[in-house]
Amino acid sequence: MKILSLSILLMSILSVVAQNSAVQNAAESELPSCLAIYKDLHTHPELSTKEERSSAIVAKELRAAGCEVTENFGKYDKPGWKCYGVVGVMKNGNGPTILVRTDMDALPVLEQTGAPYASKVTMQNVEGKDVPVMHACGHDIHMSAFIGTARALQRLKDQWSGTIIFVGQPAEEMVGGARAMLKAGLYNRFGKPNYALALHDDAEIETGKIGVTEGYCYANTDAVDVIVKGVGGHGAYPHKTKDPVALSAEIINAWQTIASRENNPLDPIVVTVGSIHGGTKHNIIPDEVKMQLTVRTYKPEVRQRTLAAIDQIAKGCATAAGFPADRMPEVNVLKDEGVNATYNNPDLTKRVTAALKSAIGDQNVIHKDPTMGGEDFCEYSLPDHSIPACMFNVGAVDPAKIAESQKTGAPLPSLHSSKFLPVPESTIRTAIAGMTAAVLDLAKK
Ligand SMILES: [Zn+2]
Ligand SMILES: [Zn+2]
Repeated sequence: MKILSLSILLMSILSVVAQNSAVQNAAESELPSCLAIYKDLHTHPELSTKEERSSAIVAKELRAAGCEVTENFGKYDKPGWKCYGVVGVMKNGNGPTILVRTDMDALPVLEQTGAPYASKVTMQNVEGKDVPVMHACGHDIHMSAFIGTARALQRLKDQWSGTIIFVGQPAEEMVGGARAMLKAGLYNRFGKPNYALALHDDAEIETGKIGVTEGYCYANTDAVDVIVKGVGGHGAYPHKTKDPVALSAEIINAWQTIASRENNPLDPIVVTVGSIHGGTKHNIIPDEVKMQLTVRTYKPEVRQRTLAAIDQIAKGCATAAGFPADRMPEVNVLKDEGVNATYNNPDLTKRVTAALKSAIGDQNVIHKDPTMGGEDFCEYSLPDHSIPACMFNVGAVDPAKIAESQKTGAPLPSLHSSKFLPVPESTIRTAIAGMTAAVLDLAKK
């Protein structure tokens, strides 16, 4: 009996070891070609909703890797916008359905990395203005690792069974792409997945390592427009006016008490006024002030309460300042620009973490703190998080640069910075190995 269980244990250890070296071998074999794809994508970035070339490359490579591919999938609400969503289905017998997502869009940033493959591209944005374009969020890393993962899983087909839905998603930076694909019936047409996985490169973690967060990892993100109305007049006669500038100052400070006084301090809230405009001249009290806010929360009830408090405080301050009822502030939450929190399902995340550790080594998988950033990957798990989802963060930074930054105190270039440049080889290798191992574990035979 003992000998039997020992030999079973030994066999399963051997099979895990074999699987891990198979994953590493597959990642290594795909690396040169994926690196070439990465550099090409980096040189040719495309803005959100304009990902024509990138999506064609993703589609072509998924097809070559053995997927049944659908292109131009998805529909935006805005008339005239074409959705470049790509869906590649890899079928391999009975088993779970696993969705793997990459985003494809770049940002209006003038690249200043000095890389030989740096972007020199300018493009018209959705407002028709010419802007420089750069993959400053690393979605080029995501696409090339995604292609490498599809190839690796095709190679290792004897080790898993099930269906993989590879989703090439446009317009992540505008948080509209995932919604456009889901609204067009992604799950009706290709099936509802049992799990959804994605990765993002990380501008703080050293390359070769992966950071994982369990539970909430990105925030509910709401854009709010506020018009503070007043009764304008001469700057020298404030008593004959209702000054929206003085009222705005009051309101902005009062909003900060939502987090500090109305809320459980263990539930994070951010209320940032990113834009404020009012008035034309020193000596004129204007008729109105316009503000634009970004509001970040995790729990749905905290989100609702915070948005309601923003409205209530604005109106309450106006009432306290004696503004007439027909000049109350207008608070408008922009429905199309909001995104739900991304929640890494704890059970799935534990499983993915174990698979990552076995693929790249225990010491290379680290805890990552959650952030109040936004990510539309949340859409795939549905608003009630009923589809378990997990997004992990692949380190992209040269360890020597991290050491230097710690020594000098000079911060590293963040995501969206004109100087953000991942170390491509080891970042793509780690991303392919990590994602392949995660899928293999969920669909293992
Ligand atoms: Zn981004
Ligand atoms: Zn991104």
